[in-house]
Order: sequence, then structure tokens, then C-alpha cells
Amino acid sequence: MLTDYHVHLRPDDDGTPASKYFTAANAERYRDAAVERGIDELGVSEHVHRFVQALDVWEHPFWRQQARDDIDAYCQFVREETDLRLGIEADFVPGREDRMANLLDAREWDYVVGSVHFLRDAAVDMRGDWDVWRSADPDKVWARYFETLGEAARTGMFDILAHPDLVKVWGGDAPVPDGDLRRFYELALDGIAESDVAIEVSTAGLRKPVGEVYPAPAFLEMCLEAGRPVALSSDAHVPEHLGHDYERVVELLTGIGVTELAVFEGRERRLEPIG
Ligand SMILES: [Zn+2]
Ligand SMILES: [Zn+2]
Repeated sequence: MLTDYHVHLRPDDDGTPASKYFTAANAERYRDAAVERGIDELGVSEHVHRFVQALDVWEHPFWRQQARDDIDAYCQFVREETDLRLGIEADFVPGREDRMANLLDAREWDYVVGSVHFLRDAAVDMRGDWDVWRSADPDKVWARYFETLGEAARTGMFDILAHPDLVKVWGGDAPVPDGDLRRFYELALDGIAESDVAIEVSTAGLRKPVGEVYPAPAFLEMCLEAGRPVALSSDAHVPEHLGHDYERVVELLTGIGVTELAVFEGRERRLEPIG
């Protein structure tokens, strides 16, 4: 079994309205690409911030600018016009857990992908006005990032913890702390160990400046030792990126003794042999 759950039906750029991408024909392009790559379990997880209902959770200026679509129309489209699993990529917004839980619990997802993109108002993966790296000490940013990631896991709101070391996205194009990075991973580990969350192994990092899988092998091994299962995804925003570089990552996973992947339906998780 191979999975791709953290998938977007459209790029993040402007000019990507729901009317153009939430169509049966577009879903079919993703299904065809998945079949070609041997991916049986395929789901979509649109960014929560593209839905107007997200503004009940958080009114970050970036969200205000992005929130255009109706979340229930998205759910209805996926359920009625596609054969894809229904997911969503939801941010962990500290202090807004109840509001996000209300948004999530009101809909019948197959799974919820939880992400940390923002540290307070600044984003770790976004250039421009909200770039955390415009003025930041890498040790402080990395510490805050992994503390927040651990809190996200601990909330129990998410089935999958997305791109777990996203903070490294820019590679050498942003400051990186010196030395053994496990001192940062440790900050997330208690929350992860005490949760029931699956750890996303994502090939998206291979397409980003860092050029590495998320998470780093040392962090993944710590999560595995804590008993967490693995959820495999590409974070594709176009069909061509589905299952991107899976050969490489499956080899990496089997090399460290991972033999099963998490599979989701109706927010229930089971494990299936990898392959
Ligand atoms: Zn993300
Ligand atoms: Zn994503």
C-alpha cells in the first residue's frame, strides 16, 4: 500500500479559484497520476485558510486575503463528485484551539492534517511581509517552532502532523542553528509521544530549497521510538507532484525498519504494509 493524503487540488498562487479546480475532471487528473504511480489511497487536504469559515478561527491578514471559498461546498464536492478521501490541512493556532475544533468537528473528514506554518504572526515558510526570517535568531525560531509543534500534537485535534521540520524549508537561504539539531527535536517530543498523531513523511522538502525529506532522519527515528506511526504524502499542489520521489523515501523508510503506513477513513486509523 502507498498513500498520498497531504495533497492540494490547486497551487497556492493567485488565480486559482475553486470554480476552476474543484471539478470532477481535475480530481480525475490526480486519480490518474496516482494510479500510474501505484498509489492506492489518495486524499485531498486543502488549506483551511482558503475558506471563509477560517476567519472565525483567526483573522491574520494573510488569511483575510486568502479566504474566498466555502468549506462545505468543498466537502460536498469531494464527497459527491470524486472518489478521493476527504481531508483538510489545518493550522495549529495557539489560543484558538476551541475555534478550530468547532470548525473541524462540524464536518466529516477522513483525516485532518495539522500544520505549524506560523509562529505568532510570522510564517516560517513564506517570503515577504510575514517572513519570520526577516529578523530572527535561528536558535530562537527553531526552539519556538518545535515547542509549537509539540503543542500541536498534544491538542489531539490532528490525525497527521504535517511536514514536521518545515522550519528548515529554506535550507542555506535562511539562518540554521549550529551543531546537533536533536536539541530542538527534543522540544516537540513529549507532546508527540503523549499524542496519538501519525508523523507525516513528506517528499515536498525535496522540491524546496532545503532539498531534504521532512522530517530529518534523526527526528523521524525519535518519533518512531516514541511509538508514532508514519503517514506518507507528497504535499502535491499539481498532479505531476503526486508520489514525488516515493522510491527514494520508501527505501529510506524500509532501511530504518518502517514496514507499515497509516491509512485513514472517517478519522479512524489503521496500518497497512508499505509497498
Ligand atoms: Zn503546509
Ligand atoms: Zn500542504
